[in-house]
Amino acid sequence: MRLDDLSRLAAQLEGVSESRREGLLHWRYRDLLVQSFPETFSVPGRFAKHMMVVADLEHGNPDGSRTRSSPRGSSSRGAEHRPAPRLRSLPVSRLASVYPIVSARSLARPFTYEIGDEVRKGAVLAIPFGNARRRGVVVDADAEAPPDVEPVAAERVLETLPPALVDLALWLADYYGSTPARALALIAPQQPKRRGERREVPATAGLPAEPPPARLSESQLHALERIQGLLASGGGNVLLAGATGSGKTEVYIRACEAALAAGRGAIVLVPEIALTPQTLGRFRARFGDRVALLHSGLSEAGRRDERERIVTGEASVVVGARSAVFAPLPSLGVICVDEEHDASYKQESDPRYDARTVAAKRAALEGAVAIFGSATPRPESWLALERLELGGRIAAPLPTVRVVDLRQETGYPLSAPLLAELGRLAEDGGKAILLLNRRGVAPALHCRACGVTRRCSNCDVAYTLHGDGSLRCHHCDAREPAGETCPECGSPELARIGAGTQRLERELERHLPELERIRLDADAVAKPEELRSALERFALADRAVLVGTQMVAKGHHFAGVELAAVVDADTGLGLPDFRAEERTFQLLTQLAGRSGREAPGRVLIQTFQPESRAVEHAARHDVAGFLAGELERRRALGYPPFRHLVRVLVSGPEAADATRALEELKAGLPDFELLGPAPLLRLRGRHRAQLVGKTDRPRALASRAAALLAAAAPAMRRAGLTAVVDVDPQSV
Ligand SMILES: [Zn+2]
Ligand SMILES: [Zn+2]
Repeated sequence: MRLDDLSRLAAQLEGVSESRREGLLHWRYRDLLVQSFPETFSVPGRFAKHMMVVADLEHGNPDGSRTRSSPRGSSSRGAEHRPAPRLRSLPVSRLASVYPIVSARSLARPFTYEIGDEVRKGAVLAIPFGNARRRGVVVDADAEAPPDVEPVAAERVLETLPPALVDLALWLADYYGSTPARALALIAPQQPKRRGERREVPATAGLPAEPPPARLSESQLHALERIQGLLASGGGNVLLAGATGSGKTEVYIRACEAALAAGRGAIVLVPEIALTPQTLGRFRARFGDRVALLHSGLSEAGRRDERERIVTGEASVVVGARSAVFAPLPSLGVICVDEEHDASYKQESDPRYDARTVAAKRAALEGAVAIFGSATPRPESWLALERLELGGRIAAPLPTVRVVDLRQETGYPLSAPLLAELGRLAEDGGKAILLLNRRGVAPALHCRACGVTRRCSNCDVAYTLHGDGSLRCHHCDAREPAGETCPECGSPELARIGAGTQRLERELERHLPELERIRLDADAVAKPEELRSALERFALADRAVLVGTQMVAKGHHFAGVELAAVVDADTGLGLPDFRAEERTFQLLTQLAGRSGREAPGRVLIQTFQPESRAVEHAARHDVAGFLAGELERRRALGYPPFRHLVRVLVSGPEAADATRALEELKAGLPDFELLGPAPLLRLRGRHRAQLVGKTDRPRALASRAAALLAAAAPAMRRAGLTAVVDVDPQSV
């Protein structure tokens, strides 16, 4: 765009009201105007001055110095966040398109900066931005020069990231409906300056590792050959399916070796920080100092140091949780996603990315191999990915599973068959794991006289009774004393409904005092050290029971566990979520895999619904059968992986406002299949409702919805409403 075009544009805008002008201009022109005339444009009442400037320029005042008369970042509304470049007076050197890392959606676009010769795409720069200094990421190092504008110079290079990561972040922003700046912040996290201190050796030690096997099994060899073939021929995605103990980790390790041999790096993702010490131990034993650890639990300095080791190539194998998918390896060869079924891979705040989808995208961008491993793969992966099956266990057969029908057996939560099994351990020694996916003593307190269930006043959920006599809301953590009598009618007839881990622990103490009890839930182990010490105590014990929520089924390796029992398999089945059966099946099968990694173990499942698909298939270790049925059901209902879901959730102080906002949104999206609006449970005092779209075009739906929501933003703000667009949500 030339200066006379710019002037003509400015002239056309004369007489147009300030508020309309913003909407009329394409951002690119607006950007040019703002960059050229920062003090005059977009500032109410100063547009006339802007016209003067244009006139000055046309009358041979090319350096436009008069436009700089007022200090940069005066009280002007828009200009203070924007770069205020000088008008062109010297030949422009290299220019780059730079995204400033700022959270405001209104600034979600690149700005042009002058850069040095050494700066490449992926450089993280310190840039002057309006009045402030920000970080910015170069997305294009050969930007078109806005012809009549001299952009400000970037100050210095803070870090240089692989260019592929920039493409990954921009794709992520688009797919998940976030902003480029927020996505770029994932690949370029803020880092503390080094103040002369030496690099920290990562304090997090790995757990001791098993020795490598003398030789690989046939199926391991076959899987590895296939992975090596893909690595040599441009990459791909595979599903590594095999029961717990079938040797998946050894395949990851060998695949990483193959990547390193080819001069490339590797990433190994685990679903939770709590699982990193064990994986780290196994990889450190094989790769030594070439392993780096990355997760959000590290100190900022620790993370900076690890990132440095990765960027420089000193460490080329990265172990970590979700965010390690963005590890700045110069060239990625292999990315392993362990326990790929785990919902923790989805981030539940903006940008709401799924590390599994991002891993596949990154592999595609870098010609790398993504290996998704699980004993209980997602239907999505089972259907879409090339399957490399490891089959059953190498060392021992899978345990036999006994289903205890709670409609026939008395004694919940400890039925007679379960007590008999535990009694045997108390006598002969041995260890058991008991899964009950509910914390506290009882999930509800109910008045027998008037029928009232005590509920949280902020949320539409029943209070959970805890061991200290308090009632707690598991959503907002509100607490109040349970008291001896019903606050409604004064009756002392209070019934505790159901059982949680604390009650289970008490019952065990009553029936089997000889067994040591170790509880593993969010109340008992709030910190990583507590988790570690609980696991150590269990490992060293001679006769013990580990009682816990789903934490006990999550990939921890326990030696010498003879019995694994699911106390109540029905807790998850009643949830109104299309993944309820998948989750239950995974939980049951994963827990069954925890027993008898050396000895033949026994598994017991207590349930009121022994005929449910999840229970039946888990009892037979029939992963393929379960997934076949699940895929059939999802195909019929149009659920993932056959279609994508996009969820729009609106919350606010009034239920009617939330629903109305979604109805209006739905009316604006006539081309899409949308379910709802449906009201959801009130949480933390806010009413919620959601609209769920089933679509083959998730990006189109998400961006249309986001645009409509942005247009409705002022009205929604007045009603106190907030909206979230979630692409590929993990629960609906
Ligand atoms: Zn009552
Ligand atoms: Zn609450």
